[in-house]
Amino acid sequence: MKTIYLDNNATTKVSEEVLAEILPYFSEFYGNPSSMHTFGGQVATKIKEARQQVAALIGASPDEIIFTSCGTESDNTAIRSALLANPNKKHIVTSRVEHPAVLALVSHLSTLGYRITELPVNKEGLLDLELLRRSITADTAIVSLMWANNETGVIFPVEEAAEIAHEKGVLFHTDAVQAVGKIPIDMKRNVIDMLSLSGHKLHAPKGVGALYVRRGTKFAPFLIGGHQEKGRRSGTENVPGIIGLGKACELAAANMEKENTYVRRLRDRLEQGLLSRIPRCKINGHLEKRLPNTTNISFEYVEGEAILLLLNEWGICASSGSACTSGSLQPSHVLRAMGVPFTMAHGSIRFSLSIYNTEEEIDFVLDKMPTIISRLREMSPYWQQVESCEYMS
Ligand code: PLP
Repeated sequence: MKTIYLDNNATTKVSEEVLAEILPYFSEFYGNPSSMHTFGGQVATKIKEARQQVAALIGASPDEIIFTSCGTESDNTAIRSALLANPNKKHIVTSRVEHPAVLALVSHLSTLGYRITELPVNKEGLLDLELLRRSITADTAIVSLMWANNETGVIFPVEEAAEIAHEKGVLFHTDAVQAVGKIPIDMKRNVIDMLSLSGHKLHAPKGVGALYVRRGTKFAPFLIGGHQEKGRRSGTENVPGIIGLGKACELAAANMEKENTYVRRLRDRLEQGLLSRIPRCKINGHLEKRLPNTTNISFEYVEGEAILLLLNEWGICASSGSACTSGSLQPSHVLRAMGVPFTMAHGSIRFSLSIYNTEEEIDFVLDKMPTIISRLREMSPYWQQVESCEYMS
């Protein structure tokens, strides 16, 4: 059975160009980039090139890029660094809809005496910037807000948020793991101090990420040991991962506009097709301020997990909530924060597309979904009540 992969916010396929670029670094050029000899030196040169490629995608200078192992490490490093750089400040501002890489960390920090403000969002998943302004106090060490939401794709105005933080003299970090490679980012045009990104969300391998740290920002490393990354992130580099991330960033920079148009068209075809074929379903999140590849749809009176199982029988991969929380039956914290009613939040599915999807795949999903939803609704006592009320009215 063919796999139809519509779960690209969970992870992406490593592109063929990226794979071709990294393979020689496993068996042919396996030197340690820190070694004095030419064999290691040539690997260091390639890492330098990757750093330039990552920097170019986000309009940064290469010396502002620190390679890490993943988005989670980048988020943890940024927030902990801000706390270490401002030891007298004990307050962190973030939002209720962040990824667990931030929310679980701040929850842990709260047990160590830090005060946390989690900003609410409205029903479209958007932030109130005035509330952000009022939430920052003299005790705030850092504001950390995601650029794009992994579950709904909703985009936060992080550039404006960073200006508000700076007006109050507070550091600003953004978790841009879902945004980098999908929307244009130019760090020369904003005042964001730190930005996290992750390789496996943009067709590079898993196990590599990066943290952008604006030149001049006080920084405290998370991993301490050797001199790698100029002492800002110790540990022998994940050479193939870093080279893959560099290549993926180069490809994203070259093709973003073209790919976005293509992916957005497929996403809209899927969305419109579902809305027109299936009664009582609704898109979650602001319709415009959204990533071009993501749609989060609630189907009333069905369980998201049940939809996923039936989609899986046809080889269709999607997600309910984020991949990291789908093991639990709690409705997603993002949809709860948006005030999505219980009956809708439980039946939400995220489809996240990539350039590797085709129109035929979307049409296949559109063909299967109506039967899946009506089959599940037939089993739901609530749905039967709704149907009989609508028949009578
Ligand atoms: N932040 C966001 C918004 C994410 O979507 C993810 C992964 O899903 C992460 C952070 C964590 O990234 P990683 O899997 O590279 O640790």
